[in-house]
Amino acid sequence: MMKIVKVIQWDMGHRVLNHRSVCKGLHGHRYKAEICVAGELVQKEGASEQGMVVDFADIKKTARKCIQDELDHGFMVWDKDEELIDFFKQSKGHKPVIVPFTPTAENVAVYIFQKLEDKFSDIFQTGLHLHSVKLWETPSSFALFERDGRQG
Ligand SMILES: [Zn+2]
Repeated sequence: MMKIVKVIQWDMGHRVLNHRSVCKGLHGHRYKAEICVAGELVQKEGASEQGMVVDFADIKKTARKCIQDELDHGFMVWDKDEELIDFFKQSKGHKPVIVPFTPTAENVAVYIFQKLEDKFSDIFQTGLHLHSVKLWETPSSFALFERDGRQG
């Protein structure tokens, strides 16, 4: 089994509504996600992907469509954050991303994992799977979500 990692980055605002300190205020991060895909090397003679797990370009293309295009310069809002939901209803020119969870690094990592896993299952050949998403919220803090064995 080989693991490969593609790194993507985007800018996004958020707040952690119930946080005891500064994370309660509106602010933004340069997010970075390390997308890890695991599988066996393609052995097929003459295939474009011979000797690879999967083409990095395929991961990049999917990640751009379902992560960066959707989130870059967006503002992630918990659907229970009524103050901000009201604000985004009244004020145009923003890019709210309304989600059913408080947007901590941990929850954003799971969100990205699930979005990618959905898309990857369409394009990946059998045996390949999304192994983990490491979501950097700051240069010194990340949340790591790994597929657990029970998911198969
Ligand atoms: Zn933050």
